[in-house]
Amino acid sequence: MKNLTSKLIHGNIEDQNDVFRSLKTPIYDSNAFYFESSEQIADAFQGKIDAYMYSRSANPTVSELEKRLTILSGGLSTVCTSSGMFAISSALLSVCAPGDHIISSPYLFGHSYSLLNSTFAELGINTSFVNIESIEELEHAITDKTRVIFLENIANPQLIVFDVDAIAAVAKKHNILLVIDNTLATSYIFNCQEHGVDIEVLSTTKAISGGATSVGGAVILHKSDKWKHIPKMAEFYENFGATALIKKIRKGIYRNLGGNMAPHNAYLQLLGLETLTLRIDKFVENATTVAEYLQNHSKIKKVSYPGLNNSKYNKLINTQYKGKAGCLINFEMKDKQACFDFMDKLKMIRRATNFCDNKSLVIHPASTIYAEYTSAERDLLLIHDSMIRLSVGIENVQDIIADLEQAL
Ligand SMILES: *Cc1c(COP(=O)(O)O)cnc(C)c1O
Repeated sequence: MKNLTSKLIHGNIEDQNDVFRSLKTPIYDSNAFYFESSEQIADAFQGKIDAYMYSRSANPTVSELEKRLTILSGGLSTVCTSSGMFAISSALLSVCAPGDHIISSPYLFGHSYSLLNSTFAELGINTSFVNIESIEELEHAITDKTRVIFLENIANPQLIVFDVDAIAAVAKKHNILLVIDNTLATSYIFNCQEHGVDIEVLSTTKAISGGATSVGGAVILHKSDKWKHIPKMAEFYENFGATALIKKIRKGIYRNLGGNMAPHNAYLQLLGLETLTLRIDKFVENATTVAEYLQNHSKIKKVSYPGLNNSKYNKLINTQYKGKAGCLINFEMKDKQACFDFMDKLKMIRRATNFCDNKSLVIHPASTIYAEYTSAERDLLLIHDSMIRLSVGIENVQDIIADLEQAL
């Protein structure tokens, strides 16, 4: 098998040895696994043999999803987590110690901003929010304590698209880890391995879950030669080599804070993965048609969709993102009241958070996901009162446009 879609559907066939020859990965909903002898269980606990022992540490259904995500991303190794937020926090906490410094794009999912700005600050890990679209500003913000540059390559919901190659070159020059939240693009649209990313994090809740079925996350490790320059990782790297980070997460934060994914969620997400490329291609086709429709409508002030020919990010989408800009569109109306009036008239498109659902969803970010922030913070994050986020689903596109049309 050469093609990604086929690989996602089948996984590694030689590796599948279910006793009943089940075509689907079974749900191993068992917290513990038994051993033939006392010797064996001792060996397993001491790491002398590979075996499942307890599902907070590892579980066969979750492992299959991890293997499939490694195939999807072309990475070295993957750990699946209880949520996207746990993937981000466990990746960053495994490489940053108190006193260390993170440079982050401010164009982030609301809770990621809160994680860095409050939770990590309380732990003594400080973040500078920098407009890293400017390489000059990025370089200027680097200190000898900077361990990570963190960004969403296509930012949710601002839809700013980053030139990852340029940022990766700076990270390489200074031996700083490049950590990318690839949730919106997914590893299908944006291949982290080919663009110098060290650690990829995903909220599998979104595109991978297959349509709002379950919450989950993943940390995917890519090839990197920076580990000996990261104080918190140097010793682990000496002992465990290229996949040291995943071992550190598993034996540390993942196990000790209890961030494992439930086996049933892993099963649902494996189902979602089988149709990932099909659904994303349909998202892109529908979103492009809808963005073109919105941009020609007199009631809409401004439309952002990086897939539009006239978007300033279109060239980047074509060069680094396989010409696919994902499912999210944002657009501006006269003011907040105009947004609410419009949203309340929608009949098929649901008012809901989440995106990359099969259903089209709409939300007013300023009054929901970003409501807890001050207006100065919302300005920094580019969250405007007049902005609506639309996640275009895989319904028939004429039905989506008809619903928008009657509401406008
Ligand atoms: C939703 C989201 C997250 C958080 O993921 P959860 O699975 O909800 O914890 C992180 N980053 C981005 C870009 C997201 O959209």
